[in-house]
Amino acid sequence: MSQANTWSQHRYRVQSSVAVTPVIRELWLMPVREQIIFRAGQYVLLSDVDWRVPQRSYSVANAPRADGAISILVTRVQGGPTSTWSHALETGDEVLLEGPFGTFMSAADRRGPALLLGAGSGLAPVRALAEDLIEREPRRPITLFFSCRTRADLIDHERFQGWQRERTDFRYLHTLTRDPSAPLHARIPALLADCVGRDLAGWEVFTSGPSGFVVGCSSAAQALGALATDIHTEEFFTDPQPWLGDMPPVPAGRSTMQETS
Ligand SMILES: Cc1cc2nc3c(=O)[nH]c(=O)nc-3n(C[C@H](O)[C@H](O)[C@H](O)COP(=O)(O)OP(=O)(O)OC[C@H]3O[C@@H](n4cnc5c(N)ncnc54)[C@H](O)[C@@H]3O)c2cc1C
Repeated sequence: MSQANTWSQHRYRVQSSVAVTPVIRELWLMPVREQIIFRAGQYVLLSDVDWRVPQRSYSVANAPRADGAISILVTRVQGGPTSTWSHALETGDEVLLEGPFGTFMSAADRRGPALLLGAGSGLAPVRALAEDLIEREPRRPITLFFSCRTRADLIDHERFQGWQRERTDFRYLHTLTRDPSAPLHARIPALLADCVGRDLAGWEVFTSGPSGFVVGCSSAAQALGALATDIHTEEFFTDPQPWLGDMPPVPAGRSTMQETS
């Protein structure tokens, strides 16, 4: 299979489509001919081959693989054309991917601890980064902290628990924000100091998902000493309708999504 070295657009074929939560599907996409060459943490644009649905951004949820496979985690947005269409894709269907895009990547020279914070489908780029760092820098301390509403919204729970058992330098935490019976059920910004540490100076921090979540995590990490230049953010912008619930209104001056987990 040939490879494209820069930004490019190629057809991919759906290898599988699995509901990983009540509102999120994981799609595995295989290149039909050429593959997009990306780095862990980057995103691609997805559309149908006939350009009937609007092109939308989706973070690649896996580290690069030799076969070019790309996984995406798509939250179904009520009334959203592309997320609704992608949830109906079946094995064998073809789609168009364009990319790679984005700078949500680890600096090449970093060796200190990495803190990966994701909510909902915001798990996608931090899962890709976790896979990549474990492979390339096995001794780098990694903490992956995932936020979702209930146990049914957990993604890859057993897989991350397995990594934690197998690797001394990998730590997995999760909070279930709508389940008061869960050991952790507050939002991540409120849990960071007690669960991760009171001094995040020197940590490289990644936070992805709804804007409110990303902004909240970024502020909390800075308050604990992380440098603004060490904090990478990926905001998904659109507010998934199933998660609107009793969320507070969008702050004045922000037109992007509210916190959803
Ligand atoms: C860099 C990047 C990476 C992304 N990665 C992912 C990912 O990995 N997984 C994922 O599921 N999504 C991701 N997204 C979001 C994704 O690109 C789409 O926005 C989302 O799937 C919705 O697309 P849609 O066409 O279904 O709905 P849209 O047409 O975009 O919107 C559907 C509905 O939501 C409403 N809506 C739109 N925008 C807003 C808003 N700002 N506030 C409130 N309501 C709004 C609209 O009124 C409409 O009714 C990412 C976005 C960015 C920018």
